[in-house]
Amino acid sequence: MTQAIAGPDRAASTARLEFGSAFTDHMVMSTWQADQGWQRLRLQPRGLLSVDPACVGLHYGQAVFEGLKAHRLDDGTVAAFRPAQHAHRMRISARRLSIPPLSAADFLQAVDLLVEADGPQLPADPTLSMYLRPLLVATEANLALRPAREYTFVLQAFLTGGFFADQPDPVSVWISHDHVRAIPGGTGDVKYAGNYAPTYLAQAVAVEHGCQQVVWLDAVHRRWVEEMGGMNLFFVRGRGGDAEVLTPPLTGGLLPGVTRDTLLTLAARMGLNPREEPISVDEWRSGCAEGRITEAFACGTGAGVTPVGVVKDGHSGWTIGDGRAGPVTLALRNALLARQYGRLPDPDGWLRRAAAPASAGDERA
Ligand SMILES: *Cc1c(COP(=O)(O)O)cnc(C)c1O
Repeated sequence: MTQAIAGPDRAASTARLEFGSAFTDHMVMSTWQADQGWQRLRLQPRGLLSVDPACVGLHYGQAVFEGLKAHRLDDGTVAAFRPAQHAHRMRISARRLSIPPLSAADFLQAVDLLVEADGPQLPADPTLSMYLRPLLVATEANLALRPAREYTFVLQAFLTGGFFADQPDPVSVWISHDHVRAIPGGTGDVKYAGNYAPTYLAQAVAVEHGCQQVVWLDAVHRRWVEEMGGMNLFFVRGRGGDAEVLTPPLTGGLLPGVTRDTLLTLAARMGLNPREEPISVDEWRSGCAEGRITEAFACGTGAGVTPVGVVKDGHSGWTIGDGRAGPVTLALRNALLARQYGRLPDPDGWLRRAAAPASAGDERA
């Protein structure tokens, strides 16, 4: 079934890692069949999957995934961040794609197995983290148009650079009017594999216009701001003690980000009066021009909190604040990192520590 593949370069801590390439040594797998359900999870060396050319997932896209991170805490243990929330979301995604959901207990056990096995590969370098990628894919060999009768679960991981500059570089964004990411009643609110390839064209258009990222509007009115690339968006209204943070409500066109949820929770505790409120492109533009909207940032597991500096909309464009990362953006970013790295108490139980203390290994640290 499997053939070993080389793991990450152990000198990875000093090199800049390309996201999604420095895989760790193991993976956790299970398969599902109608008469047996999900099988016991197996931890095994990371290796190739052998799939039939008629594999349903490849043809019809019956596949969902997740993305979460584990960090090496100051006390040396490696802890996954909010894995239960990701387990829950993957069950919702699976049901939407007619895939038998994996139990939350199995999901968490898979995370434990992989973090315990490969956590030692994560150097004691706070600019690095371990990104965990669960996948549920239909692997039956049959091209009939119906839900498959065989599925595979694979959890793999890679090491990735952190985002630790004190002043993260703001990105420029292009508002897409020609393409939409999600449609009402569609799959935009679940982590479905097919949601992503159609966005690359719009992303390329953004780059042609000199922007780094694309901003998605709602599919019906092409007016309400939904997301940026594969990340959720936040806006800051006002400044100083009056600042409040806004993010678009979960209308079905947005992916309910775990980072979004985390930041809403942290913002409330920081007195930032978070609101889930629709925001139109017109309000974004005039709010910046008139000084009501002072900051904007995107958030997601991969890149954490990323400030947005400049917006282009067709022939016009505007700058948000002074175009640099604002104080509320930086405060929320630091609060998120502090919780992920266990530098603050964890009243919400967001950290799930590997049972065995995973050592960084002196030769690699
Ligand atoms: C995964 C994802 C997000 C961010 O979700 P997190 O749980 O915060 O990582 C936002 N938008 C899209 C489209 C996504 O796929």
